[in-house]
Amino acid sequence: MRKVLIAEDNAVNRELLRELLETRGYTVLEACDGQEALHMIDQTEPDILLLDIGMPVLDGFAVVRQIRENPHLAKLPVVAVTAYAMQDDRGKILNSKFDGYLSKPINPRLLTEELDRLLSQREDRSTPNRSNGSSVDRKARAAGKGE
Ligand code: MN
Repeated sequence: MRKVLIAEDNAVNRELLRELLETRGYTVLEACDGQEALHMIDQTEPDILLLDIGMPVLDGFAVVRQIRENPHLAKLPVVAVTAYAMQDDRGKILNSKFDGYLSKPINPRLLTEELDRLLSQREDRSTPNRSNGSSVDRKARAAGKGE
């Protein structure tokens, strides 16, 4: 089962994301600040990280920087999650080492699309012999057939 780590300091937002993800069959792990997020990645090896930008101890930018400096974590997809109002952050996020971007409040459809996109890319990279990477294969997986 796919493991998603939510790094978010707001308990209500964590709970909302947990519900959305568990409904879709993901295993959910939680961290309340950036330092805990790095520790949890090390301990639990999640398949994808949803990373709040504004967090105590270490913010999302500092966390993604540390992840990208670690060769063992090079393939971990990291999605920035931040408030829509913070437009200044958007450019900064797009220039940082994030793989995706979601704005709060979370749109469930966009969340699903982003996870499908990033997790199917990851499969293509880690199992090069199982698939020729055709767009048909990717579409079938994105549609979640048989998974
Ligand atoms: Mn926050």
